[in-house]
Amino acid sequence: MSRALNLIGDRWTLLLLYCLFLGQGRFSELLEMTGMARSVLAKRLQRLEEAGLLCRRRYQQHPPRDEYLLTERGADLHDVACAIIAWDRRWHYDARSPMHRLRHSTCGREFTPLQCCAACGEPVHAREVDWRPGPGAGLDPHPGARAHRRSSIAAEDIAATQPLMQRSFEILGDRWTAMTVAAAFYRHRRFGEFQDALGIASNILSERLARLVELEVLTRGDEARDGYRLTEQGLDLFPIIVALLRWGDRWLAGRRGPPLSLFHRHCGQLLVPVVACDRCGEAVEPGEMRLSGAMRKRLLG
Ligand SMILES: [Zn+2]
Ligand SMILES: [Zn+2]
Repeated sequence: MSRALNLIGDRWTLLLLYCLFLGQGRFSELLEMTGMARSVLAKRLQRLEEAGLLCRRRYQQHPPRDEYLLTERGADLHDVACAIIAWDRRWHYDARSPMHRLRHSTCGREFTPLQCCAACGEPVHAREVDWRPGPGAGLDPHPGARAHRRSSIAAEDIAATQPLMQRSFEILGDRWTAMTVAAAFYRHRRFGEFQDALGIASNILSERLARLVELEVLTRGDEARDGYRLTEQGLDLFPIIVALLRWGDRWLAGRRGPPLSLFHRHCGQLLVPVVACDRCGEAVEPGEMRLSGAMRKRLLG
């Protein structure tokens, strides 16, 4: 998961990926949809291209114009995107947010993506999943990661131009915040446990923990006895963590193999998550998410 977050764990990158999922790949469209500065957008696109998440295709010769398309590796982030949308929609629904008004093209209805178990078809909940260390176990971040500074883009920047998904981007769009949430899922409770698991400077950790309490993802009990615990809203981030883990395993796991194996207690099988539509119950394949008509008009003029 930390490897995955090294690639996609910043707010602008997440926002860009959403636009690409919705089929907006031209520079001008991306500028308009994200509200990003031209130079920032160009830099992010270049970074994603270098990471193999997107590629360019020329759609006009005179003057030359390219559009950006997701590669197989990029398109495979579909489940992560769905899990983020679902969480955001469940806890912070806003009828004006385009991401909360997505249509499932197969049944034509506005829907919430549900993460289900491929073996039994039941929705996945954090409390019904067991995990065991896999061959490549360890919560140790990417070796170079500790040198990374906090993303210099403040949450307010995105809020001003693009209010959609502000909370989930704040939680996931900062690698250390996301790693702190992941550590809480590993049942770390106390400050020292978080610190040992993450190898993180104590001032950075206290800042992230305080922010997560403020966002109501964690609650803080008596430090000595209870430490920090996930709230209901925090526990509900689980499908996002699962989707990130799976993506990281598929594309970035080293030769040691996946660091973690998840089992669905409900059916006892290895957990293979699939995304389903909560309205028709069918699987939602990449490319089957559409913006609602009114939202599309509003966003693209
Ligand atoms: Zn199951
Ligand atoms: Zn549907």
